[in-house]
Amino acid sequence: MSDGQAREVRTTCPYCGVGCGVLAGVAADGSVSVRGDPEHPANAGKLCSKGAALAETLGLGQRVLTPEIGRKPATWEDALDKVANTFSRTIAEHGPDAVAFYVSGQLLTEDYYVANKLMKGFIGSANIDTNSRLCMASSVAGHKRAFGEDLVPGVYEDFDLADLIVLVGSNTAWCHPILHQRMRAARDRSGTRIVVIDPRGTATSAECDLHLALRPGTDVQLFNGLLAHLVRTGAVDADYVATHTTGFDAAAALAAADAPALERVAEICDLATGDIERFYAWFATTQRTVTVYSQGVNQSAHGTDKVNAILNCHLATGRVGKPGASPFSVTGQPNAMGGREVGGLANQLAAHIGFDDPAAADSVARFWRAPSMVRSAGLKAVDMFEAISDGQVKALLVMGTNPAVSMPNARRVREALRRCDFVAVADVVRTDTTAFADVLLPAAAWGEKDGTVTNSERRISRQRRFLPLPGESRPDWWIITEVARRMGFADAFAYASPAEIFREHAALSAFENDGGRLFDLGALKETGDAGYDDLQPFHWPAREGKSGGERVLGDGRFPTAGGKARFVAVRQEGPALPAEPTRPLVLNTGRLRDQWHTMTRTGLVPLLMANAPEPVVDLAPADAAAIGVTDDALVSVDSRFGNVRAKVRVTRTQRPGEAFLPMHWSGRFAARAAAGLVSNPATDPHSGQPELKHVPVRIVPE
Ligand code: SF4
Repeated sequence: MSDGQAREVRTTCPYCGVGCGVLAGVAADGSVSVRGDPEHPANAGKLCSKGAALAETLGLGQRVLTPEIGRKPATWEDALDKVANTFSRTIAEHGPDAVAFYVSGQLLTEDYYVANKLMKGFIGSANIDTNSRLCMASSVAGHKRAFGEDLVPGVYEDFDLADLIVLVGSNTAWCHPILHQRMRAARDRSGTRIVVIDPRGTATSAECDLHLALRPGTDVQLFNGLLAHLVRTGAVDADYVATHTTGFDAAAALAAADAPALERVAEICDLATGDIERFYAWFATTQRTVTVYSQGVNQSAHGTDKVNAILNCHLATGRVGKPGASPFSVTGQPNAMGGREVGGLANQLAAHIGFDDPAAADSVARFWRAPSMVRSAGLKAVDMFEAISDGQVKALLVMGTNPAVSMPNARRVREALRRCDFVAVADVVRTDTTAFADVLLPAAAWGEKDGTVTNSERRISRQRRFLPLPGESRPDWWIITEVARRMGFADAFAYASPAEIFREHAALSAFENDGGRLFDLGALKETGDAGYDDLQPFHWPAREGKSGGERVLGDGRFPTAGGKARFVAVRQEGPALPAEPTRPLVLNTGRLRDQWHTMTRTGLVPLLMANAPEPVVDLAPADAAAIGVTDDALVSVDSRFGNVRAKVRVTRTQRPGEAFLPMHWSGRFAARAAAGLVSNPATDPHSGQPELKHVPVRIVPE
């Protein structure tokens, strides 16, 4: 604690899935300063530009501080009654599937837990989905297909131990900066090689040993080629494959048929044969290899197959969950993992239990004493907004997310919100989405609420409150609990604190679990309030009788019926919408270094805005010349779903025929620039994740 600080509170950054520890210092005059927590294992005191500027986002100028009904100030009593009564009436008249929750990877695990419990156990629908659907649903589906459970086997220490790090569709230098620094340190210290597989030249590829700027969407081809190469060169770990896996022959045969020769892979991926050879040779001969993948893999109509193509290569070499040798999905959001753990996706039930296991679902029903336990999956995000548009879903609660900007085909999503009979939104500030709210609920922000989050390496950390609740704002768990009580479920939602919810969540994870499920927090189910307050960052599983922190899957035992991992035979498929003569360019979308989501927090910080103050679309020189534009020209980017306006940046980091637009711009910061207005709502059939990184566009001067 520095001079002038009355106290310093240990908490966690609310931005990305790295999950950095933060020390928030509160001075006697109430002002806040922020520094990295030197004792947090995720970041050891470091923060990136966004985390370092957190204190500058805490002003109340933009905040929603009072409940509103019909845009007029209201009491909490009236606002909560309105939400609960409307939901109850809609369910009575049209059934439980006529209502839905759309929530967020920004919610804390305790918020997520009560929302999921209310919808699936008491309302009797699985219509709760989350903006994490846009982020990592394909990894969830890929993990379940291969491992039997949604398990990330890697931990951050693996980056220190690896001799080869392969980054697929992952601009870690901008999107997971503290992890990237850790990888770079390994490279400087031990000569760890870094391969970047990404169509774009990025800050990450600028510092790597090999950049494979492949044709967008050809990842399955590249990894099928790698699997075929491993077989051809005798690099398969035959003992591991025989002992710990099933399905190898079918996957290897399809890979060999799909990618019969390097030249064919090179042609389809539009890469130099020599570069592919080098990557394959490094992968085949480097036992300590970690493959990191994120949204460039997940946000695709074939994202799950891409994930499994990667996992196949790690299974073939026995490199799963071992020190320095593992596949590693990194999440975009601070608590996408926590949401997955409570079942906060429409196709999960709870505590890593799916709808495919009736006995386990019975167990959840018993634990919750649920009167209306749902037995089948609900509507995933894109389908949910379609169902709203069609009038099937008539009442919606949105928490902590801005689908009017971030969803693909955002124009249709806005129309759906406009048509919906009843929309309630709980948020911290006004957004493009709150404009559609019949009831607006002022939510507590970072620093004002307590709970837990899980980062990309399965490490659970506390977010702690260090500020008073401003105005009439309330935590999300409290809002859900009050709605549940008013709907007649007072006994099951009689929580007085997030600590109580955490204890129940931990107990459910261990309830009737015979060890078959790895997600288990049984050791923490009797954590007292003081213990919860003092909870130190830890990796799950944390089973009863064990201290926690164990690695998962490294012993070759998988939570499938036979205890073996499953190869999944996958084939290269084309994009949902290929380029066409009238829309000859392919638009990719993604993050900027200094912005977060739809800029509701980071957009408040002048320093973070300075680097990229307005919407810019990146174009290759040949494409800019063909369109007849140069730097700073204003253009319209038109897809079949809508159009946006941006300035041009001509850059050799773009492959010819491809353009890039940041995903962040919301209505408050730029008119007609939300990437969702042009994005493709086509989804992966396994994960429901939309193809946010590939839509054909025409770009014309404005
Ligand atoms: Fe926050 Fe992510 Fe930056 Fe860490 S890397 S400070 S978690 S935004």
